[in-house]
Amino acid sequence: MEYYLGIDLGGTMIKTAVLDAGYKVIASVERRTLLPRDWKKILDDCAASVQDVLKTLPGLSLKSFSRVGIGTPGIVNVKTGTVETAANLGFYGVPIKDYLEKKLSLPVLVENDANAAAWGEFVAGMGKETPPEKLGIQCYTDLVSITIGTGIGSGIIINGEIFRGANGLAGELGHTVIELDGRDCPCGRKGCVNMYASASGLKQTTRDFMQKYPESALWSEAGGSLENVSGKTAFRAAEKGDKAACETVEYYIKSLAACVVNAVSIFQPQIITLSGGISKEGEKLLEPLRRIAEKECLRGPNTALPSICAGKLQDKAGVVGAALLGTYK
Ligand SMILES: [Zn+2]
Repeated sequence: MEYYLGIDLGGTMIKTAVLDAGYKVIASVERRTLLPRDWKKILDDCAASVQDVLKTLPGLSLKSFSRVGIGTPGIVNVKTGTVETAANLGFYGVPIKDYLEKKLSLPVLVENDANAAAWGEFVAGMGKETPPEKLGIQCYTDLVSITIGTGIGSGIIINGEIFRGANGLAGELGHTVIELDGRDCPCGRKGCVNMYASASGLKQTTRDFMQKYPESALWSEAGGSLENVSGKTAFRAAEKGDKAACETVEYYIKSLAACVVNAVSIFQPQIITLSGGISKEGEKLLEPLRRIAEKECLRGPNTALPSICAGKLQDKAGVVGAALLGTYK
């Protein structure tokens, strides 16, 4: 029986998991990344977490695997397995593949974490489900995954493969502009999707509306303080019918919809999956999003709109995708 081993290296946690032949997680462990730290110490912990997860599976050893996949933030050279830049980890020119191959005596595949998450969702999540009849296809081949976290992570699968562009950097929907001269993005541009459609974007919008509407129920929802605003504040106050909160949610969904419609215009995928905290709002988010997409996506009279749905693997997508790097449908 074949097993798969994946590591999702993040700014907060290192998640490591083993999957069975059916791509199901059968064991997983987590340890803290503990930034800032020397890259060797962090990779030593990645290797140690592999030993940790194997301890929970008597009968399996490193010899049970043909490779290990790792997803990491930043700009990744997948050929050499080197992270060129990952500012949040403090990684510059870190040879993950070489280092971990020596430690684990297994081939190591390295991928950008958002790409790994898209791959996971494609191979083992929503991408594996039977497509709705309206799409007229047997299985999905083209998927866009959008992860709504502190920032927006996105990965693109075209014709069953991760789309990296000519230099490996493609797929950054979060850094496409939806508001000219808008909010400052850490990437240097203004008005990036990231600054509006991410959880931090929603928090900023919520705070803006609170300051504009001092009487709004947003204030009581946030315990009277701008600092207590979370990604849920606006949705919860909107449920109670508060006008400013409804406007906040509407503005947020319009921003996310702009990202989704842009992705459709460029890639025309069959499915778009949304993961991360705010995606847990479910139909409250998806229904209006589909309504906008229905109106704004460029298509002919007989062209079906892509499925727009919540991701199936959610916060496991990254580690599952990492484990399944190198596998094909
Ligand atoms: Zn940006």
